[in-house]
Amino acid sequence: MANKDYYDILGVARSADQKEIHKAYRRRARDLHPDKHKGNTQAEEKFKELGEAYRILSDPQRRKQYDLFGSVGGDYAPPPGWGQPRDASGQDPFTGGWDEPSSTSGGFEDLFEALWGRFGRGARERSQSTQMHGERGSDIEVELPLMVEDLLEPKAKQIRISVTRRCENCEGLGRNDAQTCSACKGTGKVTHRRTFKIRIPAGLGDSDLIRLAGQGNPSPDGIGPSGDILVRLKVKPHPKYRIKGRDLEMDLEAPDYQAALGGKLEFDTPAGRIALQLPAGTISGKKLRVRGKGLPRKGGGRGDLLINVIVTIPKDLTAEQKELYQKLKNVGK
Ligand SMILES: [Zn+2]
Repeated sequence: MANKDYYDILGVARSADQKEIHKAYRRRARDLHPDKHKGNTQAEEKFKELGEAYRILSDPQRRKQYDLFGSVGGDYAPPPGWGQPRDASGQDPFTGGWDEPSSTSGGFEDLFEALWGRFGRGARERSQSTQMHGERGSDIEVELPLMVEDLLEPKAKQIRISVTRRCENCEGLGRNDAQTCSACKGTGKVTHRRTFKIRIPAGLGDSDLIRLAGQGNPSPDGIGPSGDILVRLKVKPHPKYRIKGRDLEMDLEAPDYQAALGGKLEFDTPAGRIALQLPAGTISGKKLRVRGKGLPRKGGGRGDLLINVIVTIPKDLTAEQKELYQKLKNVGK
């Protein structure tokens, strides 16, 4: 078996610091990721080798040992006693524990274990497929309050969302060499508020989801994809208009004489002011349908506006009105 130069495999200089090593590893891990090279055993082998190189060079003690030995022929096997505390303070620099590498397990699995370990999670819980593809970041779900009017035309709305990103200052390591990273206080992550402009496509309504792919929480291991932001639409009740699927329903008051005689009635709708021909003899509760004045549909076109007629009777009659109603009464007999 050929000698392995871990610096060569990672593509870094022998003087590279932890940050450079981590950066180089992440870049190469993405290129060599098994997702991109399905069924390519050579690429898989390279990916494993990369993990092995990172596992050694990212650990100061192991790196020192490796530097002393130079390139190690064949599978890497650590000298005895390597499981001891690794720095002067007696602290394992990775808080989550780290199994000793062995020549039989290969570097691949241990690598992921090391990465998960830093986030305080046990690698043993992870499935094989997660080990192969990295862990996906979690989704963030937020609500976007909307008015009925927001659904009438395709509209862009702004929403501010707190998002977490990998700390650029330390490449997500939480430290720069021995120092705790000041930008993220050692967490490896930074949170800030971002404004997203969301276009609400035609056909959506209350409780529907808009997915902002890849904008959610970052992968905890830095290899898997980020989660998504799920924006749930929350349409507020409107004082005038009720949503029935893609139709809108509204009440329309018509004075009794107009309901009896029929005629043109003008009124405001979400789609603007319209005039409606009221049939003679309209009674309270009559439903009228105005085509194409409802909410837009997914495939184009619109729902209808449903009018619920409420016939009103004047309360305080003038002397003249009183006389006319009296006349009406006498005629009706
Ligand atoms: Zn940081």
